[in-house]
Amino acid sequence: MPLDSWSCDACGKPITSAPNDGIVVWRTRETDGRYLDHDFKIVHKTIEPDPVPHRCDPGNAGGYDAHIDLTVLLGADGLAWLLSWLSAGPFLGGGHLQVADLDEYVNLVRRLQTPYYEQARQNFNDEAVRDILCDASEVAPYLPDTLHRIAAGTLGK
Ligand SMILES: [Zn+2]
Repeated sequence: MPLDSWSCDACGKPITSAPNDGIVVWRTRETDGRYLDHDFKIVHKTIEPDPVPHRCDPGNAGGYDAHIDLTVLLGADGLAWLLSWLSAGPFLGGGHLQVADLDEYVNLVRRLQTPYYEQARQNFNDEAVRDILCDASEVAPYLPDTLHRIAAGTLGK
């Protein structure tokens, strides 16, 4: 099902939102007095009581100094969180861009918010998919219906 499972960026195995075993981690770097977030990853959280705990979260030791529970970033509340990293809006004076690379960030937002993006992205490099979408508009490849067909292997059929 869309938006309830992801492929772990560390081990490649499924992460689910129910039960929730995912976490989003990223690095922060200071540039010109501002802190910018980058290198976002969706990984399994480390749950020690698990019979075989996942060791996918690189943590502070791996240079990933920030994290948030995966489920916080889902649904309408999740979109509010994700947008707050792009703009503080009218109450706090606007601006406040907090991400280093917009393309990387939008990839994360689509993984968490656009149905079938996570399932389709593994097929983005398929030649047939690229042939069909090379002349598409900026939005067409990322509409849920298109992504569903990419994931199912039925795009263009
Ligand atoms: Zn993992």
